[in-house]
Amino acid sequence: MDQEIRDKYQAVIGLEVHIQLLTRSKLFAGDSNRFGDEPNTNVSIITLAHPGTLPKLNKRALELAIKMGLACHSTISQHMIFDRKNYFYPDLPKGYQLTQDSTPICVGGKIGIATHIGEREIELNRIHLEEDAGKSFHPHDASESLVDFNRAGTPLIELVTEPTLHQPEEAYQLLAEIRKMVRFLEICDGNMEQGSLRCDANVSVRPAGSMELGPKVEIKNMNSLRNVRRAISQEIERQISLVESGHAIASETRSFQEKTGGSVAMRTKEELNDYRYFPDPDLSPVEISDHWLQQIKESMPKLPHQLKTELQKDFGFSADDVEFLTESPEMYEYYTQTLEFVKDPVTALNWLKGPIRSYTKDANLTIADLLLSPMQVGELIALVEEGAISFSQAAQKLLPELLQQPHSKPRDIAASLGLLQIRDENILEETVVEILKAFPDKVESFKNGKKGLLGFFMGQLMQRTDGNVDPKLANELFSKYLN
Ligand code: ADP
Ligand code: MG
Repeated sequence: MDQEIRDKYQAVIGLEVHIQLLTRSKLFAGDSNRFGDEPNTNVSIITLAHPGTLPKLNKRALELAIKMGLACHSTISQHMIFDRKNYFYPDLPKGYQLTQDSTPICVGGKIGIATHIGEREIELNRIHLEEDAGKSFHPHDASESLVDFNRAGTPLIELVTEPTLHQPEEAYQLLAEIRKMVRFLEICDGNMEQGSLRCDANVSVRPAGSMELGPKVEIKNMNSLRNVRRAISQEIERQISLVESGHAIASETRSFQEKTGGSVAMRTKEELNDYRYFPDPDLSPVEISDHWLQQIKESMPKLPHQLKTELQKDFGFSADDVEFLTESPEMYEYYTQTLEFVKDPVTALNWLKGPIRSYTKDANLTIADLLLSPMQVGELIALVEEGAISFSQAAQKLLPELLQQPHSKPRDIAASLGLLQIRDENILEETVVEILKAFPDKVESFKNGKKGLLGFFMGQLMQRTDGNVDPKLANELFSKYLN
């Protein structure tokens, strides 16, 4: 699209993010909240709301929701109720979803993000607790539907931002930050492919400079960060094109199409349900005591932005480096553990950022999958530090072999591969003397000024030792005999 036309409009984006909580059981029942079990095996009569059954709130889910609220500087509601949201759908066995309409557990708040156009704080509207629905499958085509109720009743928090984002990139960064936060808080695994983190994007456009909000379109079913950004970019273009050609934007819900990056209409505003929210009569209001809230506050782990500031302050690392080290709790943990075995923080960083990252990237693994312990990586680095092996030999030969034999000691592998440099000065000295004896004319020429011959002598030494010498030491020995 022409930049000139694009600049006539401002996009407005608000996100609704569903975060599946890592509890053992469901939000209001004791059934297992485990992903990937045989379909319809974790479904109790409470999950199905059979007559006579009563829901009971999972305290752990409440705690995890509060943690997210505290991390986002939200106000925690200490008095709340749950509401029924009524609608009919095959994956909703109760005919209603238990959610929070009027008293979300967390009100307001903000999340800081950094984009290439600067740092911003994105305001949140609310974070509320709710139960998930089951899952429908259409194995062949739309004519065949299967439903798995294992997911029905599992605990979610829904985080709703204010409509204050303007760039697809900001939405991407916000979602990336949320994913990091939930992982560091250990409240959700943040896996978008498996749907434990899901994001709906609300998008509208308005003439640049206008304060009024245009009609919004909601886009669903993006299964990666990248696709959220793609979907929003395309939606902004679609809306601008429509407005430019004199059409009105229909408030509707659209489904993202992975292949094209575009979307197709699912339902329009007219088809919207009237959810007839009302307080669930089977659940009593919830009070959160000051004491418990204080306990949760004290149990809060450090969050990625705090860890970044610390790393910058302690080691003077660049923004990119601290971003790398806090990309996941596993990475941060691995780094801090490696520091127990490696004195220099920069050396440890460079190994993780260099050879280790290129290996995990090529093998499509994360640091959590790495079979080497921080101690082994520390031992490997120590071999280089003490001059027993060169960096390039360590990175290109020893590391790949160690990854094949992850239970071996780096020093043993280096020895078996013949990579250990000859650091015994006596052995090296003998070889140097042998070489000089073998080439008396060259020694003569060297003494007469052909200093370039040092390279020739070094070459001979490398040949005779398979390259396993400490170049500095070899240099010193040649100088000793030639000068
Ligand atoms: P609804 O009444 O449709 O549920 P809400 O006001 O609750 O809408 O907002 C839902 C989400 O849509 C929020 O993330 C909000 O920021 C966003 N949103 C609301 N209005 C707009 C708009 N005009 N353009 C873009 N996003 C919007
Ligand atoms: Mg709403």
